Amino acid sequence: MSDCIFCKIVEGKIPAQKVYEDENILAFNDINPARPVHVLVIPKKHITSLATVAAEDTPVLGKMLATANGIATAQGSPDGFRVIINTGRVGNQEVPHLHLHIVGGPDPVGPMLKRI
Ligand code: 5GP
Ligand code: ZN
Repeated sequence: MSDCIFCKIVEGKIPAQKVYEDENILAFNDINPARPVHVLVIPKKHITSLATVAAEDTPVLGKMLATANGIATAQGSPDGFRVIINTGRVGNQEVPHLHLHIVGGPDPVGPMLKRI
């Protein structure tokens, strides 16, 4: 996707502080962190959101989750972290390239959501 900012990060056209990379996924620090550890994990392939994944995407989704603990630990959140995947309009997704937020420590990130 030529106009996708996260595809441009994958292609090296926009700089990012990369913290992990392999053949399928890339992880980099969020430009506007909400917690001391705030990493975005993305598939290198353009997938718009969790609402548009295909069955063939299952392995890369699994890898994004399976890699999260190692990334969190390496980045300074060894005692747990939170994973967030904002999806679509209701999920307040701002960047239309699937990404998993890892937010963490050293202090607890707080309650999940404000109760209704
Ligand atoms: P969303 O609301 O889509 O789940 O989250 C998008 C995230 O991407 C935000 O936390 C925002 O700070 C981050 N972000 C947006 N543009 C860039 C960028 O160019 N570089 C990096 N590293 N993060 C970005
Ligand atoms: Zn993209």
